Amino acid sequence: MRIADLRAVPISFPVPADKSVRLGIGRSVKRDSVLVRVEPGEGHVRWGEAHHGRCPGAVAKLIDTTMRELVLGMDAHDVAGVWARVFKMQLASHGMGAAAALALSGIDIALWDLKCQATGLPLHVLLGGSAKPIKAYAGGIALGWQAPSLLAEEAQRYVADGYRALKLRMGDTPARDIARVRAVRLAVGEEIDILTDANTAYTLDDVRRVMPAFEECAVGWLEEPFPPQDRRAYAMAAKLGRVPLAAGENHYTRYEFATLLEDGHVQFVQPDLSKTGGVTESMRIAAMASAQKLTVNPHTSATAINMATTIHFLCAVDNPGYFEGDVTALNPFRDHLADKRPYALDEAGCVRPHAGVGIGLKIDTQFIAAHPLIEGPCYV
Ligand SMILES: [Mg+2]
Repeated sequence: MRIADLRAVPISFPVPADKSVRLGIGRSVKRDSVLVRVEPGEGHVRWGEAHHGRCPGAVAKLIDTTMRELVLGMDAHDVAGVWARVFKMQLASHGMGAAAALALSGIDIALWDLKCQATGLPLHVLLGGSAKPIKAYAGGIALGWQAPSLLAEEAQRYVADGYRALKLRMGDTPARDIARVRAVRLAVGEEIDILTDANTAYTLDDVRRVMPAFEECAVGWLEEPFPPQDRRAYAMAAKLGRVPLAAGENHYTRYEFATLLEDGHVQFVQPDLSKTGGVTESMRIAAMASAQKLTVNPHTSATAINMATTIHFLCAVDNPGYFEGDVTALNPFRDHLADKRPYALDEAGCVRPHAGVGIGLKIDTQFIAAHPLIEGPCYV
């Protein structure tokens, strides 16, 4: 089976002011994604998801031009071969850095779904796994910067929905962040795992200031206090307290994860399948983390494709951590892109992969056509 055609379809929707959330990277004003449409010589079109990289039009252009030329006519089942060719020709030299990794991720996810269709298997089975329960936390663009009492109320709603863990957005001032964590701990009790995410907005001094209170509140992890390049800051922050550090959603390919793991300061590894190189590369990263007895806790991207694929992936590795449930108030890409939602939470706060071939979703092309690209930044 050959790759007969490959196209990017960037999609967007505006976020109204009353649904906007503020976090360490700004205030959300729209959501974007870059879907990747792969057409085999025979059989049906399959879809992948590339993260928008805050510039969905540029990522789509890269796919439609350079990436398309690289992979047209290749064996669609040779996902490792496609991956290696794109890496050699685009990422290894000159090649657009993060944007190329995002684009490659979308292609790889679509090719895995194509392989599933050809074999008639669910993705987790094809990858060597089983439909086991995966514990989930309430995440996505939610639990943002707001008054502690309002945040505590929001947290209680997710606990009432069945979540046994949730992630608060930090990266504001240490004093305000501490007040939020304390209010939520008081509201949800001792049994709920409280995770925190600074979205790269902390300084070392901020970490020093929040750490004692976060320890006292039994915070499960502090995610991305700094940008991924700040390796020395991660090394120093890891010595500032007992709350473990998490990172990985802005680390691309196994090569950047190799450095992260060698440094040894991060205890929770968080590849995003739509950013770091797709299913193929995330399986490699999971194996590298497994060798250090660390779990993988993937970052969730915008659409049902990434979410469903991530659950299948977690069911196929021997070191699954949390699935990031998306509790964003308004996300039609999660709810209406496919014939059903990407997951359901059970009474134990866990998710399972959909049964059926591939990721178990049927993509609605009319929905895609109704959500064309909106240019401009998604956070301001
Ligand atoms: Mg994060």
